[in-house]
Amino acid sequence: MVLRVGFIGLGTMGAPMAMNIFKAGFPLIVYNRTRSKTEQFSRLGVPVASSPKEVAEKSDVVVCMLVDAPDLMQVLFGQGGVVEGRHDGLVVVDMSTNSPDHAVEFSERLSKFGIEFLDAPVTGGDKGAREGTLTIMVGGRHEVFERVKPVFEAMGKVIIYAGDVGSGQLLKLINQVVVGLNTLAMVEALALAKRAGADINKVQQVLMSGMGNSEVIRQLMPRVLSGDFKPGFKSSHLRKDLKYVVDLATRLNMPMPGVGVLLQLYNALVALGLGEEGTHALVKLYDLLMQGGA
Ligand code: NAP
Repeated sequence: MVLRVGFIGLGTMGAPMAMNIFKAGFPLIVYNRTRSKTEQFSRLGVPVASSPKEVAEKSDVVVCMLVDAPDLMQVLFGQGGVVEGRHDGLVVVDMSTNSPDHAVEFSERLSKFGIEFLDAPVTGGDKGAREGTLTIMVGGRHEVFERVKPVFEAMGKVIIYAGDVGSGQLLKLINQVVVGLNTLAMVEALALAKRAGADINKVQQVLMSGMGNSEVIRQLMPRVLSGDFKPGFKSSHLRKDLKYVVDLATRLNMPMPGVGVLLQLYNALVALGLGEEGTHALVKLYDLLMQGGA
């Protein structure tokens, strides 16, 4: 049986992910709070729902790509929410990044309505979303994962069954430690290069080819150097992820000085009004710190 897919949240990641589901041939219905973002879908003949409830009524699998846990809470349990459109066999998949604890909470609340739940956060950036090459980390019942897997395969290249519900979010938070600290490493290195007057082309050549290379370097360094701070991955979203990492580490009595400092830097960036810019806008904080320096 071909699964009917409903997609809620057509932002930077959600729109291309939903488009890849459509291109893979799944019957699709979409919903976005800001209606204008659905136009590229309606032009292709994809039905646009007027509420998350309608998405649920007309789908077997509802994929949500929102920002944070309170947003999912609203879309699932608020007025006109997904649970109001429940029916036998319905599965909700949360592909946004929040926390393992939230995943368990969503799963428990949805099970009271007879709805299955998978947490399935992703990594690979907006490029991975467009190209359908995301890595997807899935927590929840294995049988449900197997049922939904073809949908994941339309959006990603590496699909990992992480384990029980919440395990996907745990893998994602671990991943964000590396993504965040790599971003800090890149930004600090580029600030030093600028300050010391190094030849930026040669810096780029070294970083792109040697041990310092990473997906962060490949995707974000060209954007820093061309002054393109559009997200990509918004600074406010990385701050959210780092906060979840710090919460988890605190609960585990686990010192994470690197992430602690990084969270404070992103707090500063958001306080400066730069939360909607890409994570690499952290370089602007270094520019500010250096202003007027000898
Ligand atoms: P985004 O561009 O800000 O899009 C967010 C989407 O969620 C929009 O469609 C927005 O609707 C919708 N939304 C937010 N709050 C809502 C609410 N309360 N009710 C209904 N709709 C709501 O974010 P994104 O970059 O696609 O990221 C989405 C998630 O993926 C985040 O959890 C992020 O951390 C994670 N992620 C992002 C990347 C990346 O590179 N961008 C990579 C991996 C994971 P409107 O259009 O109405 O605002």
